[in-house]
Amino acid sequence: MKNIDLILYNGDILTIDENLSTANWIAVDKGSIIDIGNNDEYKKYINNAKEKIDLMGKTVLPGFYDSHVHLVQTGLNLLSVDLSDVQSIVELQERIRKATYKKPEGQLIRGIGYDDLRVSECRMPTRYELDKCAPNHPVWINRVEYHISSINSMALNSLNIPFDLEGIIRDERGLPDGRLTGKASAYIRGQILNNFSDSIRKKGVNKALDLAISKGVTTVGALEGGFVFHNRDAEFIINNNTKFPIDINLFYQTIDVDMVKGKQLNRIGGCIFLDGSFGSRNAALKEDYSDQKNNKGRLFFSQEELNEFILNAHKENLQITVHAIGDRAIEQILNSYEYALTKYKRENHRHRIEHFELPSDEHIKRAKDLELVLSMQPSYEYYWGDKGDLYDKRLGERRKKTNPFKKIVESGLIIAGGSDSDVTKIDPLLGIHTAVNHPNKEYSISPIEAIKLFTINGAYSVFEEDIKGSIEIGKWADLVVLDKNPLKVKKEEIKDINVELTLKQGYIIFKNKGDIDG
Ligand SMILES: [Zn+2]
Repeated sequence: MKNIDLILYNGDILTIDENLSTANWIAVDKGSIIDIGNNDEYKKYINNAKEKIDLMGKTVLPGFYDSHVHLVQTGLNLLSVDLSDVQSIVELQERIRKATYKKPEGQLIRGIGYDDLRVSECRMPTRYELDKCAPNHPVWINRVEYHISSINSMALNSLNIPFDLEGIIRDERGLPDGRLTGKASAYIRGQILNNFSDSIRKKGVNKALDLAISKGVTTVGALEGGFVFHNRDAEFIINNNTKFPIDINLFYQTIDVDMVKGKQLNRIGGCIFLDGSFGSRNAALKEDYSDQKNNKGRLFFSQEELNEFILNAHKENLQITVHAIGDRAIEQILNSYEYALTKYKRENHRHRIEHFELPSDEHIKRAKDLELVLSMQPSYEYYWGDKGDLYDKRLGERRKKTNPFKKIVESGLIIAGGSDSDVTKIDPLLGIHTAVNHPNKEYSISPIEAIKLFTINGAYSVFEEDIKGSIEIGKWADLVVLDKNPLKVKKEEIKDINVELTLKQGYIIFKNKGDIDG
């Protein structure tokens, strides 16, 4: 018998194939699964395998997909100073001062997560306050949602800010005091991100990917570029796409169809914001926010503008996706997809909607008729879904209608699971856990259905179901080994399952300190 690269045996293998069959062993050669089976049959390979892994009863799943990640942003955040828990500007200064010890002078220090409403001064720091703790490093502090920022004198002097730009806060002498809102904040954001070298992006992205890999992720949908982020992020992914340890599928967040075609990408969009978020009360709702009268959020596109973009991209044979959270935004994108598909019928387009948090039954039916794919983030419910949490505050009774996974799955629609990192951490097991333990019990799905969100459905959502997403002969050996079987533990304990090994095309790219002999 010929030599093979790897045999994994003595395991509890959930293949997630069409019949959801199980197996005990997998034979791998040249990165792909060449055989799979039960009982002792693996023995025919064991003497010819270059590497052998005794799984000792551990559970194997297909490598996870995270279908919605802002990867470069996540990476840059990992290189930044986290200010989310500071209680005062003095404490912020201490945190920044510490960071200066670790960085050569002249290198940018970026603070993230700062919430001016939660510090005792109730405001952003001024440049004078930042100069005190970091006189020789440019400093850039971002408010938690990135729309307001502060910079110190060194950063200010290195940027050419037009004098009359709207949003520059000034001191008594009329000089910029370092605090920037609105257009001014967006302007310096663009300038600074443009100055970020690709080696910084690389450092950050590799850190983010290491974390993802340790959670069993072998394929990421990276939503990059555009207004809130920067096109250089998307370009970075394009230019380096063969160099990452796992697969990255880029979604270029632009409505410029020609540009995307010119780059020979076959998909467009991502977080193209049709509306905002519940947190900032600008997700577009049909009825008022429960904690703010006369506010229904807002739509950032007119129906005509959106129709034009969708039709244009659809005609060019691109796969499309946009961000729609509230029921009014969901309705708008459904209208546009209907418009495009009525004008130009196209099979197997797999157009997606990102988030789809507050759909009505009617919306679900329309999405099904349009054969859309829904890219959703179960962990939102873990953080925001319980009584008293964000959904409850903003939506009142409507919190009982958010993320109705069961209804959607039963309708036959495909849900691809994601984290929206850096909104929530890349952690498919937490996503699976939450889809199974939905705060609204009637929307909970079974563990096996929840696993599909992060495996085969993720693959389907980017046209990769023929090569990945399940453990079958001929598919890539992208695998994750878990210390417990999500179908056999108590459903409340799924989130506590550990990843033991992550394999990409047969290579171990992560190994926990556990007892598997790999
Ligand atoms: Zn997003």
